[in-house]
Amino acid sequence: MDLARLAADTTGVRSRIAAAVAARADDVVALGRAVHADPELSFAEHRAARAVAELLRADGFAVEAGVGGLETAFTATAGTGPLTVALCVEYDALPDVGHACGHNLIAGAGVAAAVGLRPLVDELGLTLKVIGTPAEEHGGGKTVLLDRGVFDDVAMALMVHPLQEGLSYDPVGTTSQAVGRYRATFRGRAAHAAAAPHLAVNAADAAVVAQVAVGLLRQQLPSDHRVALFVSEAGHATNIIPDRAVVDFECRAFTLPEYEALLVRVRRCFEAGALATGAELEITATEPLYEPLEHDPGLCARWSDAISFFGHDVEPGAGLAGGSTDMGNVSRRIPSIHPWIGVPGCAAPIHSHDFAAVADSPAAYDLMLEAGVAMAWTVAAVSADEDEVRRLLDAAASRRVRA
Ligand SMILES: [Zn+2]
Repeated sequence: MDLARLAADTTGVRSRIAAAVAARADDVVALGRAVHADPELSFAEHRAARAVAELLRADGFAVEAGVGGLETAFTATAGTGPLTVALCVEYDALPDVGHACGHNLIAGAGVAAAVGLRPLVDELGLTLKVIGTPAEEHGGGKTVLLDRGVFDDVAMALMVHPLQEGLSYDPVGTTSQAVGRYRATFRGRAAHAAAAPHLAVNAADAAVVAQVAVGLLRQQLPSDHRVALFVSEAGHATNIIPDRAVVDFECRAFTLPEYEALLVRVRRCFEAGALATGAELEITATEPLYEPLEHDPGLCARWSDAISFFGHDVEPGAGLAGGSTDMGNVSRRIPSIHPWIGVPGCAAPIHSHDFAAVADSPAAYDLMLEAGVAMAWTVAAVSADEDEVRRLLDAAASRRVRA
């Protein structure tokens, strides 16, 4: 994308933001490429967190590493204005498929927005706080940072997430699924598989019964509910009846009540496995609950106005077929946006090898810069609207009173 031309084609604050992003665009794209080339898993994103924070430090932000007790979280702050704006940056990758969720682009878009706004923070009355939020894929880093007060002063929060082409860039009315993740452990009794099978309690069989029950249950679930699982342990030798089996599973639905009801039904499937075999069952949560997104309509309107400048579709759309983010938890406490941005020409679904390749393409990096500029324009538009600023500050103040 020709950002210098964008600066010339726009006026006022928009033009100055575009010029500031243009001045650092090569560095931001290099950052996106570097993060993509070196995938690190949830809570272990040491090199990525350092690289993102270093770019911001070089641009004039005050960096605090390891915030909220998480080694790979950070804040990078500029300005002392009354309106504290958080730009959430993610940089964790996935096992097996690397940066197949494009979090390198999320990091780059957040950094682009940050360097675009930094020269204007005093004029716009901002405290601009980039929050490095680890472990979006697994572990719910944002929920940990919320619990530990890192978002306490924040009046509005923004991020974008790449996707395949096809969804509207306008997030109004769209949401994401709640997801809860669990580990079911069956404990039986081992015995020689030939000499004394009748004395065994087969924990692997319990896992099979549970899987079959879940498979049958799916026929009776609403079409927007999801249950996914895999057996992570079910024996080690054919001549020993397994006395331990482990199944990792997750449940998703678009509202919290639906999610709770789904979890009850799935739990029964595991209890069926235990009942049928005589094994004991223990189910433990392995991650914090991710809550459904709630987009702030006022922020959405300004975002859609900004991103439509680049020709992207902002007609109200149907939203996501399925998927979850810990930004949901942020959005239910702090006015937020988390637009899905389709990479032009990309048909590959996220979490695939093909999408990992797309996330390192020129089209993706162009979109990353556009989204960064559009987020910065969104913040500038909000800060220029006295009523909107008052609404956000009042909401932030009443949250502090409740806490
Ligand atoms: Zn993602």
